[in-house]
Amino acid sequence: MIEITFLGSGGGRFITITQFRSTGGFHIRASRNIYVDPGPGALVRSWRYKLDPRKLDAIFVSHRHVDHCNDVEVMIEAMTGGALKKHGTLIASKSVIYGDETHTPAVSKYHMDVLESIYIPEPGSKIAIGDEEMIITPSQHSDPTTIGFRLKTSVGDISYIPDTAYFEELRDWHEGARLLIAAVTRPRDMGIPYHLSTDDIVDMLKKMEKKPEALIISHIGMKMHFANPYKEAKYIENVTGVKTYVAKEGFRVMMEKERIAVRTLRPARFV
Ligand SMILES: [Zn+2]
Repeated sequence: MIEITFLGSGGGRFITITQFRSTGGFHIRASRNIYVDPGPGALVRSWRYKLDPRKLDAIFVSHRHVDHCNDVEVMIEAMTGGALKKHGTLIASKSVIYGDETHTPAVSKYHMDVLESIYIPEPGSKIAIGDEEMIITPSQHSDPTTIGFRLKTSVGDISYIPDTAYFEELRDWHEGARLLIAAVTRPRDMGIPYHLSTDDIVDMLKKMEKKPEALIISHIGMKMHFANPYKEAKYIENVTGVKTYVAKEGFRVMMEKERIAVRTLRPARFV
């Protein structure tokens, strides 16, 4: 069984600074433990849902925007037992490692030095993580080095579409995945550049010959939050026939051969 736990479902500057929805990214428990997009709150939320960050094996960071990478250094410290033992893999966009015209690198040399391996992959690159294989996918975002992935597992592929504008080939990269996790930042008729809206995801799903078994919408922006993401999810489901869930803090997806089940965890009491 593969278990995916969301430590937040917010995205965009206003949701991030208000924490109307938390912004911790998500955790994948497969043959290894992989953390995806550790935004603000990733460390605290991991403990809140009893996901020991010291047990991580890999961290994936799609791009250098603060709602995706804020906690990456502290998560590396956890993964490496307080930066005391060399352990784990970091897979990140160029901007995360080198910075760009407007951002410094997100990971210091101190933290880079305690990692076992660092990948700065291009779309199409394949990276083995335990029994799974991660195929890097492209994005068209204001950080032009943004990457997503398709994780091949024994129970089917899990695709992650981070911040991106919609473009035709995006569909080809993710067609046939069993589970699709997508950053759907904006509701119907309210699209903005470089991000997906409800309309974009509907368009993509309609054109897919082999549709996913389930879609999870995350990275919910302020307009989406107040438009009611559950209504948007219902609409997506009605017009595409794809079972659609809205991520939230503590939302867990259990993926088995026979079925995909979901539940919402209660936070632990000590934090
Ligand atoms: Zn972004």
